[in-house]
Amino acid sequence: MSEFRGLIVAVSGPSGVGKGTVLARVEELLEQANPGSVGHSISVTTRAPRGQEKDGVEYYFRTTEEFEQMIKDGKIVEYDKYVDNYYGTPSEPLAEMVGKGQDVLFDITIEGSLALNRKFDVDTVTIFILPPSMEELENRLRGRGTETEEKIKKRLEQARCEIKRAGEFEYLVTNDDLEKAAREILAIITAEKLKASKNIKAVKELE
Ligand code: 5GP
Repeated sequence: MSEFRGLIVAVSGPSGVGKGTVLARVEELLEQANPGSVGHSISVTTRAPRGQEKDGVEYYFRTTEEFEQMIKDGKIVEYDKYVDNYYGTPSEPLAEMVGKGQDVLFDITIEGSLALNRKFDVDTVTIFILPPSMEELENRLRGRGTETEEKIKKRLEQARCEIKRAGEFEYLVTNDDLEKAAREILAIITAEKLKASKNIKAVKELE
């Protein structure tokens, strides 16, 4: 077992901002530097699978009744409703991964990130990803080609509300360039791990 607990990297940002792609690149860079250092949390959702999505890969797809039962049984550490569906983080795998010293990257809603930060304060860093502009965000949402016009409008409306809350996060990263955004998140992770409060043991050993 690792001497250090892993870091929970809670990342939020509007739908279409590219969180998934940026986080996949961050994960790749972390794995290159230290293989096996990243844990993967698979969320549970009540929304229907999109395109080629498979149960147990992108998400665990469950009914509302099943999801509500998981909440009652204490199997969900945080959850939120987004565009009429539940999304939540299973508790047990997260505790296990962080306990083993693995870092876990999360692409979750604002409430989800803030809830993780409240529950696991010292182990969590919160990052909000901003789009370069609202026009660019709209183009990216339309480019997906998987949503109806009504759903795109709803996501854009939600995006404007979410961006207003960016200041509740510890760090802000603008995704105008994938590689740059990924390296900035890597720098944040490195800085968090170097915090004196997390490394006091190293000082004691030198005394
Ligand atoms: P999508 O339907 O596009 O896959 O995801 C919609 C939203 O749900 C995204 O903003 C994503 O970040 C969020 N989300 C995914 N998994 C979780 C989760 O476990 N908890 C919370 N709070 N949000 C999640």
